Amino acid sequence: MRLRLFALAPLALLATVTAAARAQAPSRAPAYDLVRGTPSVDPRIGIPRDERIAAALAEVSPARLRAIDSALVSFRTRHTMSDTLSSTRGIGAARRWIHGELSRYSADCKGCLRVEYDAGMVTVERHPDKPSVNVVNVLAWLKGRDTSRVLVIGGHYDSCVCSKGGPMARFDTTSDAPGADDDGSGTAAVMELARVVAKQYPRGLETSVVFALYSGEELGLLGSTQLAKRLQAAGYEIVAGMTDDIVGNVVAEDGRVDSTSVRIYAPGDTGARGDDDVSPSRELGRYVWAMGAVYMPGFEVRPTWRLDRIGRGGDHRPFWAIGAPALRFSERLENYRRQHLGTDRLEDVDFSYVAKVARLNLATVASLAQAPSPPDTVTYRRDAASGGQKWQVTWTPSKHALNYEVLVRRTTLPTYERVIRVAGVTTYLLDEQLDDAWVAVRAVSPGGHRSIATVATGFTR
Ligand SMILES: [Zn+2]
Repeated sequence: MRLRLFALAPLALLATVTAAARAQAPSRAPAYDLVRGTPSVDPRIGIPRDERIAAALAEVSPARLRAIDSALVSFRTRHTMSDTLSSTRGIGAARRWIHGELSRYSADCKGCLRVEYDAGMVTVERHPDKPSVNVVNVLAWLKGRDTSRVLVIGGHYDSCVCSKGGPMARFDTTSDAPGADDDGSGTAAVMELARVVAKQYPRGLETSVVFALYSGEELGLLGSTQLAKRLQAAGYEIVAGMTDDIVGNVVAEDGRVDSTSVRIYAPGDTGARGDDDVSPSRELGRYVWAMGAVYMPGFEVRPTWRLDRIGRGGDHRPFWAIGAPALRFSERLENYRRQHLGTDRLEDVDFSYVAKVARLNLATVASLAQAPSPPDTVTYRRDAASGGQKWQVTWTPSKHALNYEVLVRRTTLPTYERVIRVAGVTTYLLDEQLDDAWVAVRAVSPGGHRSIATVATGFTR
């Protein structure tokens, strides 16, 4: 009997304590409990609209995009190894025309763009003879106030007819390769973007912007690899390496149509950290997703958390490979019956769709190039006093930051759910249990432009 009472007593006590805790739950519960709450997927999280950027979007002209792409197609082929001497046919004529157009845009902003050829001899590893080829990118630089930082947005102007006819078709330098969509569309978008950004911001932005028209993409990302390595070797902080590649088709092979959404491909990290969702490229992806929601609510940005479409590649890859935030824009619906064929015609490119992609580019470039650098590193530490129910988050200061925002999301969500403004310090005691969430910090400029975020990965005891 005595034994039985002993056994019952602790149980009764436990029941009482639990009931009391339940009764007091509302006042004792933490202010936030992300994992228990209703998920919120709003990519805009705390990003305000800049009316100057919103107004600039209207400057992007579908007619100009068409005129640019039409000129590119008129060179018949823009194969990297095609004729360079003719003034009417081949890649030499194409790049001289691009250089001339960009120079005209620069003349219209009193020389605000520095237009240059970025040339280098590159071995074509994919060719059985491994020839050396002169790979020539055309670049337009809009100098920033901080010239140590550079944001790159590009498209490739080379073309090929290489999807049929065996491996050597990749080196067919004479057949017509119109490449109106791949990647005349992206080339046109980046050139039009250069014109509009130069016109709107002739004195430049905080960060230097490079509008890059690449050669050698179809032979193995040769031009973008050359530029990424050069910028890295010169010691630039690469804010982003983005590419517009295949951004003008709206009709799929089976006839379905979509002119109201675009895909962005944002890879995970290249390291072996085991957490593939904390990379700078993913943060850039969240940023572009937010820009779409803030500035173009009728145009759906579809983030895809992978490097590229399956079995495909693009000019963001060399930037990703050197650890820079990298991302690809691509049309929602592709048509493989046109890509890398003589059928990639101007008539099948929808230039009002290309204009939407270029506007999304514009919002991203104008916003990100006015933002401070993201914090270099963010670390976190379990708060002992709360038994780990709070965590101390600490970050390195960013140049030109007015203040910071701490962002939190549960690990299963693609975007952040909480935003906490922090001014005057670079540390914050967060009321959140961080074993179950991701925390990141972004920097805010005096003008209200946000950097991409840096995810906390450095754990200190
Ligand atoms: Zn392409």
